[in-house]
Amino acid sequence: MDSILDRPIQYLPGIGGKRAELLASEINVRTFGDLLMHIPFRYVDRSRIYKIAELGDEHTTQYVQVRARVRDKGIIGVGAKARLALVVTDDTGEMDIVWFRGARFVMKKLEVGREYIFFGRPTMFNGYPNMAHPEFEPPIVVEGQEPIGMQGIYSTTERLNSIGLGTKAIFNTMRTLWEAVRPYIPETLPAHLLEREGLVSRVQALHDVHFPPSAAALNAAIRRLKFEELFVIQLQLLGQRRVRTERIRGYAMPKIGGYFNMFYREKLPFSLTGAQQRVVKEIRGDMVGGHQMNRLMQGDVGSGKTIVALLCILIAADNGFQSALMAPTEILATQHYRSILELVETTGLRVELLTGSTGRRKRAEIAEGLMSGEIDLLIGTHALIEEGVRFSRLGFVVIDEQHRFGVMQRAKLRLKSQEYPPHVLVMTATPIPRTLAMTLYGDLDVSVIDELPPGRKPIRTSHARESHRLRLFGFLREQLAQGRQVYIVYPLIEESETLDVANLEAGAELLAREFPPPEYTTAVVHGRMPAKLKDYGMELFKSGQAQILISTTVIEVGVNVPNATVMVIESAERFGLSQLHQLRGRVGRGGEQSYCILMTGDKLSSDARHRMEAMVSTTDGFRLSELDLQLRGAGDIDGTAQSGQGIEIKVSNLAKDGDILEYARGVAERILAEDPQLERPENVLLVAALERLNRQKKVEVDLSQIS
Ligand code: ADP
Ligand code: MG
Repeated sequence: MDSILDRPIQYLPGIGGKRAELLASEINVRTFGDLLMHIPFRYVDRSRIYKIAELGDEHTTQYVQVRARVRDKGIIGVGAKARLALVVTDDTGEMDIVWFRGARFVMKKLEVGREYIFFGRPTMFNGYPNMAHPEFEPPIVVEGQEPIGMQGIYSTTERLNSIGLGTKAIFNTMRTLWEAVRPYIPETLPAHLLEREGLVSRVQALHDVHFPPSAAALNAAIRRLKFEELFVIQLQLLGQRRVRTERIRGYAMPKIGGYFNMFYREKLPFSLTGAQQRVVKEIRGDMVGGHQMNRLMQGDVGSGKTIVALLCILIAADNGFQSALMAPTEILATQHYRSILELVETTGLRVELLTGSTGRRKRAEIAEGLMSGEIDLLIGTHALIEEGVRFSRLGFVVIDEQHRFGVMQRAKLRLKSQEYPPHVLVMTATPIPRTLAMTLYGDLDVSVIDELPPGRKPIRTSHARESHRLRLFGFLREQLAQGRQVYIVYPLIEESETLDVANLEAGAELLAREFPPPEYTTAVVHGRMPAKLKDYGMELFKSGQAQILISTTVIEVGVNVPNATVMVIESAERFGLSQLHQLRGRVGRGGEQSYCILMTGDKLSSDARHRMEAMVSTTDGFRLSELDLQLRGAGDIDGTAQSGQGIEIKVSNLAKDGDILEYARGVAERILAEDPQLERPENVLLVAALERLNRQKKVEVDLSQIS
């Protein structure tokens, strides 16, 4: 590893200590190699020179270059406010150029009467073009130097810019860097792979991505780099999965016994959908095999995941194993507890609930029941994985709404069992788009419930503005008169929780005036309340005593009140798409027509408008999460896109590179099928690539070992 690519960036000519520090803190570039991987986020065609008269509104979103002569220059204002104003002309018109920063410095470099190429983004003012902070250079064509065609735009920051590391300077630095490192760039993919997949070499790719000779070469370069990045991750994930399925032993649970049979024949209140039956079979297939199961069950809200999990819990019990069911909130844990208790009544299955608010006496009792093996199923929040909780024979763990649970929490669970790790079933109603699932959960098996129980009517969704509020109240009155119930949800954003609660309380007051007791009863639930009060509020609503539930997103996941037919989401613009979809899923659970009303302010950002339109246009969770990924980019899907495996994705964009990802996964599968241990000499580079990847991981957790 003693390579020039590992050399600290401060030793690159023109960088030095101070700039090196900022490069590290601002864009995480510390070495020559890091800078080389700082790849342009966009390219412009620099072979095209615009005439001033050509510039119009359509150019204001792009970089253009203009060749023009300086007619006037002057500093306007004093001190920190001083700016440099320039008037430049070509033979078609004139343009204003301004520098708000570094005015004096730039002033010295530009001479009146001389011609320059100005490169920047124009804005139009009264049909007259302006440019702020363009880059510029004299229009000299150096003999023998290739004319600049496509040029990369590098991401930079305000602070880097202020020490002379704007996008142009980064480009120039890249030239210096390239001269230094060009002979030392190793190939990282085996020759057979390059040949078979038609990929350009690494050195070629890195050259072309920084200094593209043509659009075609640029595309080939980007394809190679993205392929490599995604391919190595897939190789890693598939390898882990193989280790898990082939080597990690798990409890064998072959029996179908009294619990399952009695429940299935006598207690199951409906017949399973085809999708539910298939998924039960898939899970059961894993449970009998003697290898540890690690399965993700995806199913849209209301698709009936709970009953599937319960059936598997009964199988575990039939084989003498205990199960745990973890939910992200107390409300949801309590709800699971109550509904499961009701379902398994008289089957003899012993179920207990453990949450943060379980009293000390009860806790001790539960601890004893777990150790003696009397408790078959423990339901709870993450209190379940606290130190004190020990099982005698934990064989099956269900994690509901997984996106709330971190990898570390799953790791702790592993410690709860004896001989082997328990089988793990992760349930999620957030339909993770395929590309993301493949990257985040590439080592898990996935089951999908892609069918809703029969008789559900699609929810009608509409978007209403503040000015329609009176009509909204009228509509709610109608629904309430028909005996239906209504949810009204307010956003809760943690930083200003107090303010949000105040918002909710103000809303509650308004509603109390519109829907006064005794005719109407309203329950209020929010995250700041003591658990007892929350439970009480939920209970009022569930039992039908309260017709209206005003709450924050504490009800987001899993709450099930079939008689509720209206979901009003206040300040809907403040919610992300997947959250809106989750909330909407709280209605449409019974046989009645249900409605979701998205209330927003009158003015909306275009992004928010897109989200509202998406919600109105479809109820398909998968479709929505794809849209969400496109709208937000993969970077912040619950913050997991880049951290789920501790692998940073630099070149690819998960929102857009789904096809390359799938392709790369296919290639990784093929290679592992041919050479499962990567022992063949021609694959030695792949072993090295995996080692590098593992060194790079920020969190050193081997998923195959824990979950
Ligand atoms: P989710 O997948 O969102 O967790 P739930 O498991 O809460 O969904 O199920 C939603 C509702 O649908 C529950 O009331 C449940 O009893 C009901 N349900 C589940 N499966 C079926 C089915 N096959 N037929 C009819 N109703 C069902
Ligand atoms: Mg659920």
